[in-house]
This record gives sequence, structure tokens and C-alpha cells, in this order.
Amino acid sequence: MKVLKLENATAGYGNVIAIRDVSLEVPEGAIVTLLGSNGAGKSTTLKLISGIVKARAGTVSFGGENLAGMTPDRIVKLGIVHCPENRQVFPHFTVYENLMIGSYTRRDRRKVKEDLERVYDIFPRLRERSSQYAGTLSGGEQQMLAIGRALMAAPRLLLLDEPSLGLAPIIIREIFNIIKKINESGTSILLVEQNANLALKIADFAYVLEHGRIAISGQSDRLRNDGRIKELYLGSHS
Ligand code: ATP
Repeated sequence: MKVLKLENATAGYGNVIAIRDVSLEVPEGAIVTLLGSNGAGKSTTLKLISGIVKARAGTVSFGGENLAGMTPDRIVKLGIVHCPENRQVFPHFTVYENLMIGSYTRRDRRKVKEDLERVYDIFPRLRERSSQYAGTLSGGEQQMLAIGRALMAAPRLLLLDEPSLGLAPIIIREIFNIIKKINESGTSILLVEQNANLALKIADFAYVLEHGRIAISGQSDRLRNDGRIKELYLGSHS
């Protein structure tokens, strides 16, 4: 079992402590969501896991292996792949080129080709637009490309940062259905979201960050009926 574990992790930038004493787990095969308002420390938690930000205290491990001191590309090779906030596709490269960039750490070209076909099967729109510049795609298509590019790195654990950001409800539903499918095909998912209602529908387990600390955690079904969550994050959608 390749479980991702954060144990009492603290991280930040300069004088800012963005997350403090955070402990969480993503069991193999699960969808776990990390909720919280703006600035709560969600993105920092993902950056810590993918090695962009270093832990000041505590540990991050994957399958029992401590990730301390590992470079981001080494962490990608272990199977942890980060799909960042605001998609960050390369606008002046084509859809195909963006996808191939996702496979840069891999040697087995035959497997890469198979995965490209798989990504095109999951996102037929990317196949249709394979030679189009990424910067000319719609917001929803760019999000699909960002997820497709992450899949090209053959993740065992996918870190998704706010995939619903700025998208129309119908596209968000499509993307969430695809996230569920990716998980069913064997990839664990840590999903950062502000859209708590949707995230709790697809996740098995949830953590809520408040001011850099885990304030609430539990099975998603239970949290959907939790008074505090309803009041703070579900609003009228509940
Ligand atoms: P959002 O939902 O708005 O993306 P978040 O929960 O992902 O928020 P983070 O981006 O992790 O929150 O930010 C946590 C804290 O760290 C905030 O106070 C933020 O201002 C600070 N922070 C984030 N990135 C940096 C940085 N590069 N330099 C300095 N401070 C930063």
C-alpha cells in the first residue's frame, strides 16, 4: 500500500507560516479532499508534498519513504504528480506538445504512447485539438489539458489544485466525472477545492484547513451533514 502521510508538517515562505502541524493521509485508491477558504494553506500543502516548498518541521512520506530533501522531479518519478492551480499550460505550445511535456521524466516511449491514447480517450476534445495552441483553448479545455498533462506522468497519486476554478457548472460536472473515472482506474487523488459541496460528493474523506491548521476531518458523508461545514462552506447549496 502506497499511503501518502503528512505528520505534523509545518511550512511557509519567509516570515509567513502557511501551514502548521498538519497531519493527513491519502490511502492508496482513495479520493481525499482538502477544503478551506482563501489563504487557508491548501495550495501550500500540495506544494509541500510535491517538493516545491520544504517542510520546516514534521515529515511527508509516500509508501513509508520520507520525501525530505527530494527534488520535485524525483517526487514525480515516485508517482506523485501535481496539477497546479490556474492550469498553467504552456500557451505557445500545442495540446500535443503540452501533453508530451508531462511525460518528460519517463523513458519507456511505448508506454508513453499508450498513455497518450488513454488521455485522448478520456478527453476526446484534446484529441480533436491536438495541434491547436494551448493558449487558444477555452478555460474548461485548458483544465482538461492540465489534468491530461499530469496523467502523462503516470501518477499513482494525483494532486489536483482547484480544478473547478472559474469554470461553468456544466464543465465542472464533466471534469468531476472524469476525476472519479481516473480514480476508478487506480490513481489516488488529493483534491483541493473551494467548492466543498462538489468535492464532498466525490471524496471518501475530507480535511478542512483553517488558518494553516486542520480544523475538521472525517468521512465525506458525515461532513456533508456536519453543522459547522454546512454553515461555513456549503451555504445554500446544502
Ligand atoms: P487559495 O484558495 O486562495 O488558493 P490556499 O488555501 O491555497 O488559498 P495558500 O496559497 O497555501 O492558500 O496560502 C497560504 C498562506 O501563505 C497565505 O497567507 C498566503 O498569502 C501565503 N503565501 C502563499 N504563497 C506565498 C509566497 N509565494 N510567498 C509568501 N507568502 C505566500
